[in-house]
Amino acid sequence: MRTLIDRVFSNGLSHAPQPEAIHHVGVANMFNAVTMVFCLSLAFFDWMQGYGGMALLLCGIAALALFSMLHLGRTGKRSNINLLLALALIGVDWWLMATGGVAGMGHLWVFSLPPLLLFTFGLRRGGMLVALLVFGIICILYGPEELSPFEYGDSFAPRYLLALTASISLVSVAEAARRHSERRLLALTHQLAFCARSDPLTGLANRRSLCERFEQERQRSLRNNTPLSLILCDIDHFKTINDTHGHECGDYVLRKLADMLRTNMRAQDTVCRWGGEEFLLLLPDTDEKGATRLAEKLRTLTESYPFSYHGIPIRVTLCFGVHQCSREGHTDYHIRKADRKLYMAKEQGRNRVVSGDIPDILLPPGYIEEAD
Ligand code: GH3
Ligand code: MG
Ligand code: MG
Repeated sequence: MRTLIDRVFSNGLSHAPQPEAIHHVGVANMFNAVTMVFCLSLAFFDWMQGYGGMALLLCGIAALALFSMLHLGRTGKRSNINLLLALALIGVDWWLMATGGVAGMGHLWVFSLPPLLLFTFGLRRGGMLVALLVFGIICILYGPEELSPFEYGDSFAPRYLLALTASISLVSVAEAARRHSERRLLALTHQLAFCARSDPLTGLANRRSLCERFEQERQRSLRNNTPLSLILCDIDHFKTINDTHGHECGDYVLRKLADMLRTNMRAQDTVCRWGGEEFLLLLPDTDEKGATRLAEKLRTLTESYPFSYHGIPIRVTLCFGVHQCSREGHTDYHIRKADRKLYMAKEQGRNRVVSGDIPDILLPPGYIEEAD
């Protein structure tokens, strides 16, 4: 039952990137459902009391509400059906106002429409529709008698309009406040999502974000049979930089280096701060030869880059482990391979790039079986 309701209310949107879009469609369709149920109930009463024409009209509006619900649920977009439905409901309200409705209660239904119009069409377009509704009501109340066969008392018109205006004002304020809160909440959600996926010091992607991206790129590379490479790099003797010039200087080097890595990569590549002074680069559609070329370029750029902290020149060099992912083995295994090559670069004297195949036997225990 729940799945059925979900499908009617937000079918086609279940994979929408923004959950708030699904929520908005859900609420708009609740309004549609309420409209449909009320129109059908009213139609039933009208038909029982011999108002066949009105019952038919209400059934038509209920059908419009159903179409609108199905369309909105499937596409997530407002269509002309919604506008048509709104105009039809405005027409019904005018008609109820003019005729007094059953037992003279018609004018009460007018109060239910402005919240629906403001939520569905927004403050501007919805406001214009509300203005149209009120304009019609004023014409009925103050216009020629043919427009309003029902006799309202002498002081009814100004009091009724005052009550209607007060209600519309309150609903508008509530809707404006709701929209403001929704915008703030969305901005906050985006900010939180950004914080959860990025490193605060360098602004690069963090480990979690890269792992997700790695999984996606790996699936893509296996599907399309395209190469995928990794570069793991680490600053040489970073502890000495910290110890000699202070932690702030270390932070400065990390930030500058992050900028340099970012600006020297293609749009589809991802660079993340993997650990304290380690960066992991994910290079889709790149084989080991191409990745090694990039690592060499970054190595020479770094060693010749004039890092300077408060006028003091800082020499920074990097070690790189380059690895092209094979079809076998999961993500951890491939990162271990890049890490192992990085370690070899450190062993060989630092400021260098190590690529090429290395036997699995060189990996720490546990990773050999996982590769299968
Ligand atoms: P190696 O050449 O073998 O990589 O030596 P290293 O000194 O770079 O490596 P080690 O692991 O001994 O030291 C890493 C240092 O990085 C120690 C740690 O305090 C520092 N570090 C980690 N994160 C940060 C950070 O966010 N800011 C700063 N300034 N330092 C950091
Ligand atoms: Mg280091
Ligand atoms: Mg390190």
